[in-house]
Amino acid sequence: MTLFTTLETYTIWFVTGSQGLYGEETLRQVAAQSQQVAAGLAGLPVRVEWKPVLTDSDSIRRLALDANSDDSVIGIVAWMHTFSPAKMWIAGLDALRKPLLHLHTQANVELPWEDIDFDFMNLNQAAHGDREFGYIQTRLGVPRKTVVGHVSNPAVLEQVEHWQRAAAGWQAARTLKLARFGDNMRYVAVTEGDKTEAELRFGVQVNTWGVNELADAVAAASDADVDALVQTYLAEYDVAAELLPGAARHQSLRDGAAIEVGLRSFLEAGGFGAFTTSFEDLGALTQLPGLAVQRLMAEGYGFGAEGDWKTAILVRVANVMGAGLPGGASLMEDYTYDLAPGDEKILGAHMLEVSPSLTSQKPRLEIHTLGIGGKDDPVRLVFTADPGPALVVAMSDMRDRFRLVANVVENVEAPDLPKLPVGRAIWRPAPDFATSAACWLTAGAAHHTVMTTAVGIDVFRDFADIAGTELLVIDEDTTVRGFQKELRWNQAYYRLAQGL
Ligand code: MN
Repeated sequence: MTLFTTLETYTIWFVTGSQGLYGEETLRQVAAQSQQVAAGLAGLPVRVEWKPVLTDSDSIRRLALDANSDDSVIGIVAWMHTFSPAKMWIAGLDALRKPLLHLHTQANVELPWEDIDFDFMNLNQAAHGDREFGYIQTRLGVPRKTVVGHVSNPAVLEQVEHWQRAAAGWQAARTLKLARFGDNMRYVAVTEGDKTEAELRFGVQVNTWGVNELADAVAAASDADVDALVQTYLAEYDVAAELLPGAARHQSLRDGAAIEVGLRSFLEAGGFGAFTTSFEDLGALTQLPGLAVQRLMAEGYGFGAEGDWKTAILVRVANVMGAGLPGGASLMEDYTYDLAPGDEKILGAHMLEVSPSLTSQKPRLEIHTLGIGGKDDPVRLVFTADPGPALVVAMSDMRDRFRLVANVVENVEAPDLPKLPVGRAIWRPAPDFATSAACWLTAGAAHHTVMTTAVGIDVFRDFADIAGTELLVIDEDTTVRGFQKELRWNQAYYRLAQGL
């Protein structure tokens, strides 16, 4: 089964509320105008399907149940064109298990001041119809995103798109199967976590396979498949001379290709969309998987090193949320700092496993010694992430809940790094290095993150809201004192929100 990393298979339902009181003629107008509003969302990446206007409790409840049971439907946009008495929505909203966006809009932009009469007022009363709807959503505690404005406004479309992408990330998590090859790195705390709770909270199935099952799949790679993949490498990368066919170390490139063939076949056979490896548990593998992992992440797979399945989930979710956009998502690790006063930067990398989707340049494919893991020298892609806006997000298990922490950052140009042959990124964190690091440490956020250059913090905010998961954001507005207070408040809020 090939992994899909696209928004094209998904659908959003556009739902309009009204009531029978207005009569057939008005309801026809409501239907026609709501189709126009839905059509205004047609340029967004997830397909929007208009549904007939809802005017009673039974049909509203039925629509919610139908949405729940249709795997292609990843969310509902709701708008009360007229006044839709909200008790009609109680059963439906109570049943709905899909993400909800409340679009507070109206059919017209400007009022026809010269011609306005009370028929117009009756038809165009979302201004109070949507307030009735807001009340019942809040009273029921229904999580949703509220977007305000006309669909011709690009800012409105942008907010709806962010939510669409988050809903797609949520759907990807709900259907994600994650394969761990080996356990977590010994003695490490933050990569641990409650896998049973993860399946309940995010819908992700996290299970472990012995690494030699992967090694068997690698051993089964055919010469023809390895030959073909080597040709792909030669076409896509700037391959080091010693790895070329006929050169001294070409066999190492073939070994790396066999790992990719085997890993891919294992993941496809099991329907996995994410995986982890562990350098402490490589079994019969000849190299730590580097090149293969880098390429699979760039294709849309989630990955975490050292058994870090929580970060693997984030990489998969970020890959789906960023589908079709420039940039990509990768495992990243805060490695070392440049503490030049006033110009502090973070150098992020990993032993090998950084996704080349972070660069628009042609990566170098090289081989170098890796002291850790006790295996043959691994092949890897070498590059620097493009300069530009980026986001790093980490997930920690806080015992009673999962916590996401995000930092808005700016990737910067790299100096030459001739002796650092790995994929890497160099960034300035917002609001400044000291505030960022102090908040990150205070939150207990991990050293592994997903770095995404495709989507920003707004999409992750929507994802966290949909997932009902705590998200702490470090951005331009963050202060250490304010952040500490938020941590304290959250500690109380999230415990109370679980019920007593
Ligand atoms: Mn690591």
